[in-house]
Amino acid sequence: MDLSDVRRHHLSVVLEHLVRSGARSRAAIAQDTGLTKATVSSLVADLLERGLVDERPVPPSRSGRLGRPATDVAPAGHRVGALGLEIDADEVAACIVDLAGEVRAMHRCVAANRDEPAEVVVDRLRGVAQAALADATALGVECIGATVALPGLVDPTTGTLFVAPNLHWFDADLGTLAARLGLPDGITVVVDNEANLASLAELRHGAGQQLGSFVFVTAGVGVGAGIVLDGRVLRGAHGFAGELGHVVVDPQGPECACGAHGCLETLVEHSSDAALARHLAAALRTVVHLLDPEAVVLGGSLAARGEHFAQQVGERLRGTTLGARWHACHVRRSVLGNDAALIGAATAALDEVIADPTIVPLGIAQPA
Ligand SMILES: [Zn+2]
Repeated sequence: MDLSDVRRHHLSVVLEHLVRSGARSRAAIAQDTGLTKATVSSLVADLLERGLVDERPVPPSRSGRLGRPATDVAPAGHRVGALGLEIDADEVAACIVDLAGEVRAMHRCVAANRDEPAEVVVDRLRGVAQAALADATALGVECIGATVALPGLVDPTTGTLFVAPNLHWFDADLGTLAARLGLPDGITVVVDNEANLASLAELRHGAGQQLGSFVFVTAGVGVGAGIVLDGRVLRGAHGFAGELGHVVVDPQGPECACGAHGCLETLVEHSSDAALARHLAAALRTVVHLLDPEAVVLGGSLAARGEHFAQQVGERLRGTTLGARWHACHVRRSVLGNDAALIGAATAALDEVIADPTIVPLGIAQPA
């Protein structure tokens, strides 16, 4: 690392610490991070100028000494936010989530996207994106990034959507199409898989907050999963990890689009709760044996099937996994429901800035 890399890394360390742990003094930041007080002061000055942190008076309980009033540094929670976008078979959606994790705006629009050309759907997405950005402006939230959640295999580095079976899209270049969204200059648009993004949202703001390792499962037309291991979303070599829908449950079952027979995805659509719980548990027991997660989080329509359904899956899983007697994998329902992927998209864009605060230009700061 050269000097600028070191400084960039230190900026990220300080900002992440403030976002995860809340307001504190410069001295406390130095103590918590192991950086010197002089370094912390310089880093905080930089983050202040980028508008990513604020200064605020120390609460009366901790002040009271004579002399200059003490100040804490806090993440600029409500002044900085990111745009989350989502394309699904039957709707487009946009939201704004701020650095404090609060959802500030949300727009959903029903749209028959299946079999439509990608550019037509992106133009539909532009409508809700512009509405969310107008809300952000009215609320005084500076938007610093955007992520699009897509129901398929995605390469986030190039913006290519390889395949979205339920949209009937193949090799769509979403990276180039993002220009059609008409976002302000300086807002980078990233694309990612919706289940990965939903699992990130559950990790930060939902059912996964107290968990280090869990599997998020969602079912709509298809079945998707996001795997979180040790606090990170597991992407695999190409970002293709988590295709739980293509775990074979019944080798004698119907042929699947992937080429196999009896994939979970081919069996769930018309299943009763009891039959679906059996099929889902059969696929999940493979995942539990391979990855040893603490919990399974059911999202989307699986969460909507209710607590009794979650218990059925849990019981089936407990009865068929080797380690369950000592550490059973718990099954719980999503907290964020159908908003998980959308909120996760904005969360991922905020994470980009936390990982490299220099993405946000100097001089963006507005009076708090
Ligand atoms: Zn399959």
